[in-house]
Amino acid sequence: MIVQMVRRFVREEIVPLELSLDPDTDQLPPDESERLKDMVKDMGLYGLGIPPEYGGPELDMVTMTLIAMEMSQHRAGLYAPCYGVFGGAGLAQLFEANEAQKEAYLYPTLRGEKRGFFGLTEPSGGSDPARAIQTKAVRDGDDWVINGGKIFISGADRADYGLVFARTSADKGRGGVTCFIVDTNTPGFHVRRVVHTLRSAHYATELQFEDMRVPHGNVLGEVNKGFAIANDRLSRQRIPYSAGCIGVAIKANELAVEYAQVRETFGAPLASRQSIQWMLVDNEIDIQQARWATLEAANLSDLGEPFRKQAAMAKLIASEGASRVVDRCMQIHGGYGVTKDFPFERWYREMRIRRIGEGPSEVQRHIIARDILGSSLR
Ligand SMILES: Cc1cc2nc3c(=O)[nH]c(=O)nc-3n(C[C@H](O)[C@H](O)[C@H](O)COP(=O)(O)OP(=O)(O)OC[C@H]3O[C@@H](n4cnc5c(N)ncnc54)[C@H](O)[C@@H]3O)c2cc1C
Repeated sequence: MIVQMVRRFVREEIVPLELSLDPDTDQLPPDESERLKDMVKDMGLYGLGIPPEYGGPELDMVTMTLIAMEMSQHRAGLYAPCYGVFGGAGLAQLFEANEAQKEAYLYPTLRGEKRGFFGLTEPSGGSDPARAIQTKAVRDGDDWVINGGKIFISGADRADYGLVFARTSADKGRGGVTCFIVDTNTPGFHVRRVVHTLRSAHYATELQFEDMRVPHGNVLGEVNKGFAIANDRLSRQRIPYSAGCIGVAIKANELAVEYAQVRETFGAPLASRQSIQWMLVDNEIDIQQARWATLEAANLSDLGEPFRKQAAMAKLIASEGASRVVDRCMQIHGGYGVTKDFPFERWYREMRIRRIGEGPSEVQRHIIARDILGSSLR
């Protein structure tokens, strides 16, 4: 029932509204945003991503995954599902925070009053951040002094605070990394530039930290154990990340199935050609495989069983499969497929990032290989 409500909302409210918006936007006009938020609140669905212990609804991961597959079924859906009108979920890692930190950062984020960023990747590399992190934090009395920088950090220019991972010991691996909660108005915090990418909304940023003093009370978790916090939650986030890709693939395929039946070439509908039929068949297979893999990972997480390998598989299958689906649907639409009159060109650009963001495909394969061959594998 919830999934159907979300589906109806996306089709009746978001898709028609989107027709009048800039094709590259990731934001609604403020009055529309408020109107839709109120509608979502009336439906009792505001704050879907908030766990029950923080006042959110009691939804399991499988249901959340099915909902995420619906929310992305519109032009901006991959990176701005429903333009955020279902409320923010907060940075997953903050659920590990102590009570004072939750009061200062988590709860205001869940109420939609504050925004955070996740600062892990550095110019020295993002696939293996535990070894690549060069940003240093040195203890000085009650503070830590942080120097270094980050790259590809989404939304840091619009954020009130962020999680910054820095090296705090001589250990060159995951044992020497600490996670700090940093207010963006801290002296020494600089957004050096916006990094333009294939994404429509260009809000990846490069950050620089110059003698930035952060109180010891802002250490998230324990000193030198910050990487475990990042890692555990990254695995969990791969499930909704995969679901977003699947939703876009479902919508793209739906449009292609309709179009193939009405568009005629050489005196017959495209759908009568076997080469087109096979594209639609391959779409169906890619979508089904991704759905099964993602729901399997979600189900294991609900059962409290290990799901790291399954989440990596889901991310790999969904991001690669959905990329193929969008590409085929664009081909079926011919010239129209590459215009901004249709959503394919935006999905095509943004879907390319999904094979790199949240761990590139090769890193997912590395995680799966480690699971098969044992953690001694480097
Ligand atoms: C638009 C965008 C938004 C992002 N947002 C954030 C954010 O908010 N916060 C954040 O911390 N990071 C963010 N990232 C960073 C992202 O997570 C990294 O780009 C990603 O982890 C890869 O790191 P890298 O770019 O340094 O590539 P590298 O680590 O240099 O790897 C380069 C390539 O080598 C390949 N490779 C890597 N390891 C292996 C291996 N073991 N075997 C074979 N091949 C391998 C992969 O193809 C990889 O793409 C974002 C990136 C983009 C593009």
